This record gives sequence, structure tokens and C-alpha cells, in this order.
Amino acid sequence: ASGCSLLRDPRYNKGLAFTEGERDAHYLRGLLPPAVFNQELQEKRLMHNLRQYEVPLHRYMAMMDLQERNERLFYKLLIDNVEELLPVVYTPTVGEACQKYGSIFRRPQGLYISLKEKGKILEVLKNWPEKSIQVIVVTDGERILGLGDLGCQGMGIPVGKLSLYTALGGVRPSSCLPITIDVGTNNEKLLNDEFYIGLKQKRAAGQEYAELLEEFMRAVKQNYGEKVLVQFEDFANHNAFDLLEKYSSSHLVFNDDIQGTASVVLAGLLASLKLVGGTLADHTFLFLGAGEAGTGIAELIALEISKQTKAPVEKTRKKIWLVDSKGLIVSSRLESLQHFKKPWAHEHEPVKTLLDAVKAIKPTVLIGSSGAGKTFTKEVVETMASLNEKPLILALSNPTSQSECTAEEAYTWSKGKAIFASGSPFDPVEYEGKVFVPGQANNAYIFPGFGLGLIISGAIRVRDEMLLAASEALAAQVSQENYDKGLIYPPFSNIRKISAHIAAKVATKAYDLGLASHLPRPKDLVKYAESCMYSPGYRSYR
Ligand code: NAP
Ligand code: MN
Repeated sequence: ASGCSLLRDPRYNKGLAFTEGERDAHYLRGLLPPAVFNQELQEKRLMHNLRQYEVPLHRYMAMMDLQERNERLFYKLLIDNVEELLPVVYTPTVGEACQKYGSIFRRPQGLYISLKEKGKILEVLKNWPEKSIQVIVVTDGERILGLGDLGCQGMGIPVGKLSLYTALGGVRPSSCLPITIDVGTNNEKLLNDEFYIGLKQKRAAGQEYAELLEEFMRAVKQNYGEKVLVQFEDFANHNAFDLLEKYSSSHLVFNDDIQGTASVVLAGLLASLKLVGGTLADHTFLFLGAGEAGTGIAELIALEISKQTKAPVEKTRKKIWLVDSKGLIVSSRLESLQHFKKPWAHEHEPVKTLLDAVKAIKPTVLIGSSGAGKTFTKEVVETMASLNEKPLILALSNPTSQSECTAEEAYTWSKGKAIFASGSPFDPVEYEGKVFVPGQANNAYIFPGFGLGLIISGAIRVRDEMLLAASEALAAQVSQENYDKGLIYPPFSNIRKISAHIAAKVATKAYDLGLASHLPRPKDLVKYAESCMYSPGYRSYR
């Protein structure tokens, strides 16, 4: 490419950073103003511009424009300013972006596969300009964050997640493919919106749905081979568990809402033992929300306790309790429970409310995974604080509006006793002269490094042992300095290093389990992971 086409190609465009020599060699003279900026100055200028926007959505749009204009600069900004920009390209702002996707939509950023493409999905994949794909993030838009069915507008999620695969995990942007599968939407507001970009029909279900997904999964394997990672994202739980189960024996699949969340929360729990003492097996867990996140986390906790104590998982599940919209999950409800809740139906009399469940179960750890905001009430938090010296309270639901409680509520209602982390970020809170820094129990800690580990080892299947390895690797990255501040997660500013350590541990598991196809096995997997990571500095075109 040269001249205008070079400036219009986001993969190669450097804007004012083209040197005098490059301007001569590539017919750029006169197409740019005379100043030559280096990448650092461009970054400074863009961060300055970005901070002028008061409305978060405008920052999001400015970042998307940058991604479409100058990809390396986009990633340089994201990597160097990760704590500031994560909430812009990801939760909470990405949620608002999806809600308004119809009106802010400018250029397709991923692949749309709708019912109209049935029978032609392989051809659709071939239309995507990049041929060597390592990670696909796919959604059907039915449960976007805690915001419900956003149909085709869910595309913001795969796009955002994949930009984190690159920024936080170092996967090359050209090997990332965002996909939205559009089988319709049951969101009346979207169906009646003249600017809605998706299929205007009710969601297909049952066999019609299963057939489209089957064709998709086959086409993916046929086109990209055995080693492409398919990450399911924000599917509703009535499909998510089944899809994961169905394809985990034939494809390299990972569900971030079930498995990624579980791994990141387990890491926080392992780290929190340093602050509250004891082992995981000493604790009693209560969840509000028994869906993908809740039961996924619960199962991984049970597996880790089983691994540590050698007790069978049927037994280690007994100290883990879940509440759904109908109350505590107990054995008398067994018949009517969805299959993923059945392992959690323990012997107990019926309990209706969360508060009563807290009183009855006396948990040491309370985890919110309901998608329902403001459900950790003052009474609930006070009860947790009266039962425990240091109650562990995790409000995981995203975006911020759906958080079970705020950081301020957790600290003030517990009179400073709570150890608190949330899914969407909260600012530090001052309570009685002390500053409390809430942790962010966000999947972004795990999935980029997890995916990188699968890629560098050439893994062909995902196993639970790999999730446990990732949790342990993340927990090991929390420093004494972090603990001193009450943090159970390391700061995001070190995320690339953290990702390399997670990748190394995941890859190690893949090799140990005989699931790695990249041979011979590199000696130092941390170094190897680091050496594989994409870096956003400009290339010279001379
Ligand atoms: P899901 O599969 O739909 O599950 C939601 C669960 O919450 C269901 O069991 C539901 O009960 C229950 N529930 C909903 N409202 C409730 C209420 N008012 N009282 C009691 N229970 C209630 O959703 P999910 O995938 O697990 O996600 C849930 C939330 O977690 C979302 O907000 C999501 O953003 C968040 N999340 C956060 C992270 C993170 O990184 N922190 C990761 C993944 C998910 P029924 O089963 O009875 O309907
Ligand atoms: Mn998700």
C-alpha cells in the first residue's frame, strides 16, 4: 500500500508518525501536515483529547474511531493506560455502547452470522479478510452483561473482549475474530426500533437454533482447524451450559461467563485466605444468583477444595449454597430445578429471602452473581459483619448499575470489616479516616492469559485443571504490598506480566495432560509467553 491507501489502512497507518523518509518512499508528501510526531507524542495528544470528553460513551466512540484509524496506536493507548481505559472499552461503558449500538454503528468490526446465512456459514467465514485466526469470541446477544437480550447489538462485547485479548494477553489483532450470531431477539424495544441493525424476529430456539450453531461450529473447525479457540460470551444460561458441554469434547471451547468468572473469583478467594486465614475448606459460601457465573464459580471452588483435601467433589459441594430468584436452592426443589442447579440442592428447609438465607447458612463468603443490583441490602451486609470478623463480600454483577452493592455500602455498612471486590470498578472509599481500595473481580484478569496459554501450547481442549492452574497463577501475583491495602487482586497495571504467568501455567497443564500440539515444549514458558506477545510499537516501512 502507498499514499492514501496506506493512510486508510488501520493496520499500517501511523498518521503523523510517518518519518520524512517514509513520506518520500510511500507517496505521502502533501497528504500529511509537515509535523512529524513520535508515537509517545501521539499517545499524549490522544489521551489529552480523550480526557476532554465528559460522557463515557463519547470516550468509547473516540477509542473505536482510533481502532479503525490507527490500530497500533489504539493498542499502545490501551496497554499504557489500562486502568483508565479498561472501563471505557469494556465494562461498564461497553454495556451502554451495546444498548445504543444501532445509533453509534459506523463500520462493521466483526462478522455477523444470522439465520439468513444458514447453509452458507463456511462461505461467510471465508469473507473475513484475515485467514489465520487463533481466537474467536462469539455471542448470540441474549444475556449481554446484566443488561439482558440486546440481540445483534451484542457485537460490542466480542469486539471489546478481543481488544483485551490483544492488549492484556498479547494475542495479535489480526488473529482475533469477533462474531455475533443473530437468531432474532425477544427484546420488544429493539424489535420496534427502526434503527435496529439485527433480524427483526423473535429468537429461534430448539432445533432451529441448535442446527445453526452446529453448522457454525463445524465451519469454524473446517476453516481454521483444531487449535482455534472459540470463546462463548454472554449466551443465556439455557443455551450456555449445553453448548459448552456439547462442544468441549470436539472443539477448543471456553465459556468466559461460566469458566472465566469461576477462575477469577477462585483466584480472589485463594488470595483472600492470606487476609482472613484458614483454608478454603474452612469457609462457608453463599451465592445470590445460581446461573452461569454462580454455579460455575461454585463448582470450581468445590473442585479446588477437593484437590486440596482429597475429599470427593460430591462432599465438598456441601459447604456451598446458592439462592436464586425463588430462594435458597434446597432438596425439596430438586424436581423443578434446571440441571445446572441440581448438584447444589442440599438438605435444608425452604428459605425465601437472601437475608434469611444469610441468617440460616451463616456464610463467611457472600458472592453476588445475580445481575440484580442493590440486592445486598444494609441488613444483609450488617448480618455478614455480625457473623464474621472479616466477611468476604463479592458483588460481581455488571455493569455498575447492576452491582449487588457499592464499595461504599460494603465498607460503611460493615463498619470497615468487609473485604470487598466487585465486577465493575469502584473508586477507593474513605471510612472513618481509613482508605479502602476495592478490588475488581473481573474476568479480564484471566481470559487473555488463559487464551494465550492455550495458543502458545497449541492446546486442542480445555480442562478444569487448566482453570485451577490459572486461578493459582493469578493469586500468586498478589504482592504483600497489595495485601497491605486489603487487595485480593493485583493492580491491572501489571496485567501483561500477570497474563504471561497465567499463560505459562495453563500451557504447562496442557503439556502435562498431553493436550498440547506445539512441540517441543519450550523450556521457560513464562519467557516464551512474553516473547510471543504482540507489541504495539510502530514498524519501520523503509
Ligand atoms: P444468569 O445465568 O442469567 O444467572 C442469573 C442468576 O441470578 C439466576 O440464577 C437468577 O435466578 C438469579 N437472580 C436474578 N435476579 C435475582 C434476584 N433479584 N434475586 C435472586 N436471584 C436472582 O447470569 P450470569 O451469566 O450468571 O450473570 C449474572 C451476572 O454476573 C451478570 O450481571 C454478569 O454481568 C455478571 N458477571 C460478572 C462477571 C465478572 O467478571 N465479575 C463475570 C460473569 C458474569 P433464576 O435462576 O431463578 O432465574
Ligand atoms: Mn460475559
